[in-house]
This record gives sequence, C-alpha cells and structure tokens, in this order.
Amino acid sequence: MRRRFPAAQVVIDNDVNIMAIGEQRAGAGRGLESFLFIKIGTGIGCGIISHGAVYRGADGCAGDVGHICVDYNGPVCHCGNSGCLEIMAAGPAIAAQARARAAAGESAFLAARLADRGELTAVDVGDAAAAGDRAANEIIRASGRMIGGVLATLVNFYNPQAIFIGGGVSGIGHALLSSIRQATLRRATALSTRHLRIEYSPLGADAGVIGGIWLGLENVFAVE
Ligand SMILES: [Zn+2]
Repeated sequence: MRRRFPAAQVVIDNDVNIMAIGEQRAGAGRGLESFLFIKIGTGIGCGIISHGAVYRGADGCAGDVGHICVDYNGPVCHCGNSGCLEIMAAGPAIAAQARARAAAGESAFLAARLADRGELTAVDVGDAAAAGDRAANEIIRASGRMIGGVLATLVNFYNPQAIFIGGGVSGIGHALLSSIRQATLRRATALSTRHLRIEYSPLGADAGVIGGIWLGLENVFAVE
C-alpha cells in the first residue's frame, strides 16, 4: 500500500479489533467504557474495549480466546493443542457435526440440503434449526454452551458492561444467542452479570468496515 500510495498512512489491525471499534463508534457500544466483541466465524476471536480504547496486550495478541481449552480430550486444533474453543464450536465444527448428523440419518432437513448443495455450512444448520430440526438445534445449543462457558470466564475476569457477538456464524439465528446467554449467565458470578448485556452486533457485517474507517480517520488526524 505504501509503495503504491506513498502519501497514504497505512494502519493495520486484526478483524475483531476493528469490529469492536466499529461497534464502539457507530453501534451499540457507543458511550460504553468496557465491552467485549466476540466474532464467531471460521474461528473465534475477541476484541477488548477497555477505558474506551482497544486493549491489544503487550504483543498485540490480547483476546485470542478461540484457543482457550474447553475439552482436554477434544480434537486437535490447527494451533497444535487439543480441544480449543474454535475447533469445537466455530463455523467449521458446526458444519462438520451437521454433515455427521445428516449422514447418520438424524436430520432429514440437513440430508436434503447436503444432497442439494453438496456441502453444509453453519447457515444451513441455522435454517434447519429455524424449521424445527432437532439435530440442528442440538448442534447449535452445544456450540452456544461451549462459547457461553468461555464467556463466563471472561466475564468473571474482566467484568465488561456488554458483550456484542458478530461474525458469519452469528447470522444463524437466535437459538445460538440464547444458549450463549444462558451458559454465560449460569456460570458467571451474579455480581458481574447484574448489568451485563449480551447481544448480537447490530452493525452485523458492516462492523469491521466501519471500524476500519474509524481506525484510519483517527490515525490521519492523530497529533504526533
Ligand atoms: Zn487452538
């Protein structure tokens, strides 16, 4: 970018951090001092807003919650450890379970969708759940429970005002949000959840673009 546009100021940040910035500047996070933005897609990540700014940690790795272990005997993650949250509960895990349930004859909806399209995604599982498919609902609830369990730990640790959930998998419907909410509220301490909001990001897919624009603007107008 610098070579091509020599006058440009180039700033780089990861997807979930800029989504958190978008939510804080133009979404449901306006006016909040401390909140978490959880992105659930092919992986799971967390943007941390602390004292009104993104908290990045000593080396920029803060919020890498997708590799928190939820099952020591679970499948091996691409990071090399086993049973990480994202290998157990993110989009590809939801799709893989859907394929297994369809192949086992446990879901007519998912089997039909698989035959029709040749593959299954988390969105198909959301459609099946909305149509009342039992296997799909079980898959989504299990995923929501695991994510909520980790969020409860984060809430106990960080006591945020709100948690906003975005990313591709958040588009699969309210069954996921309600099981995430349930697991978080059940496992976190009562004091830290008294005022806690857990919601889907109202900006949806635009959160990252809006956050990227704000990040650029702030850099352009920053006083050295
Ligand atoms: Zn991992």
